Amino acid sequence: MALRIAVMKERAPGENRVALTPETAKKFAALGATVAIEQGAGLGASITDDAYREAGAKVGTSADVISGADIVLGVQAPDPTQLTGAKPGAWVAATFDPFRNGELVAAYAAAGLEALSMEFMPRITRAQSMDVLSSQSNLAGYKAVLTAANTYGRAFPMMMTAAGTVQAAKVFVMGVGVAGLQAIATAKRLGAQVSATDVRSATREQIQSLGAKPIFVENVAGIEGEGSGGYATEMSEEYQKAQAELVSAHIAKQDIVITTALIPGRPAPRLISDGQIASMKPGSVIFDLAVAQGGNVEGSVPDQTVEKHGVKIVGYANTANHLAADASALFARNLYNFLSAFWDKETGRPVLDEEIGDAVRLTKDNKVVNSRLAG
Ligand code: NAD
Repeated sequence: MALRIAVMKERAPGENRVALTPETAKKFAALGATVAIEQGAGLGASITDDAYREAGAKVGTSADVISGADIVLGVQAPDPTQLTGAKPGAWVAATFDPFRNGELVAAYAAAGLEALSMEFMPRITRAQSMDVLSSQSNLAGYKAVLTAANTYGRAFPMMMTAAGTVQAAKVFVMGVGVAGLQAIATAKRLGAQVSATDVRSATREQIQSLGAKPIFVENVAGIEGEGSGGYATEMSEEYQKAQAELVSAHIAKQDIVITTALIPGRPAPRLISDGQIASMKPGSVIFDLAVAQGGNVEGSVPDQTVEKHGVKIVGYANTANHLAADASALFARNLYNFLSAFWDKETGRPVLDEEIGDAVRLTKDNKVVNSRLAG
């Protein structure tokens, strides 16, 4: 029997993305799988049911779709109670936010489902095309700059007009991972004067290669090169103090600040205090991309514009969701690249290896099995 892949409409409030597109439905069908999607699942990303039908997918109710499913794809993992009727031990490939969703992970184990957490994709070259954090962060970095530009009461590029010159905006990007790099590139394209900082010294060259100015703590050691998986760790008190001083001096001269700093499994590091906000010019804008992980900026609130000392602080709970069509297209391709890379032609289903399979698998045989969740 052909492997059955099922996709439900996302249930999380406001979630517009979808884990399958007509393009990936066709590709899964070409591998020999049957694909079913809940009616209306693509509407938030401007994909009609007919487009899925034309791509060869069945469109039905969630119960029809889930019935007999071997693999369920999702953007945000559904509650396991909604997966009744799927095959015992069915795989669910989605984001689980596993460090914060212990109960959900336990429920997956209890339900006998195999949860595959796309956030735990290892940062190795061959998994780059499977990495949803990268694909979504890239779009988020772009949207952060556009939103900041829209919130700002002035222009980004320098303009010489008959009525006089408009000064270029000064944009400072804090945290130069995938989102930060895209934020730098986007702000440059809009004509801003861009500077950026990170704790990883390897980012200095990346900042320069995008034509932006690196702002780094010089007298205290940061993180040389890339640590495990290229992620940052928490910095020493001495470093944090030096960073705060450097940032205070720099930030007062900026018009726009985009913060993107994250530490996996920890709350986002606090980079901007209320006192630093007060030092900025009225009319300045801060976009806090980490607002949903606790925030890099004191006082930021998800999905609200907070005004403090004349500075507007913005941040979305789910930034990629504001570009749902592209975010879905990339997310769906990440899932296809992941499953198809492991496709076993004889059995017509994917067989995961240790390096990637064990990294992403949270639950199996009624147990939580992931080493990152142990203890
Ligand atoms: P992230 O989202 O975990 O964090 C964003 C950035 O914030 C990082 O650059 C981090 O160093 C920085 N940061 C953390 N604490 C900070 C602080 N106190 N002050 C300033 N900056 C701080 O990072 P990311 O986007 O996931 O990228 C991390 C690295 O992993 C990058 O070098 C990226 O190129 C690499 N990466 C590799 C792969 C792959 O090989 N498959 C995939 C994705 C990312």
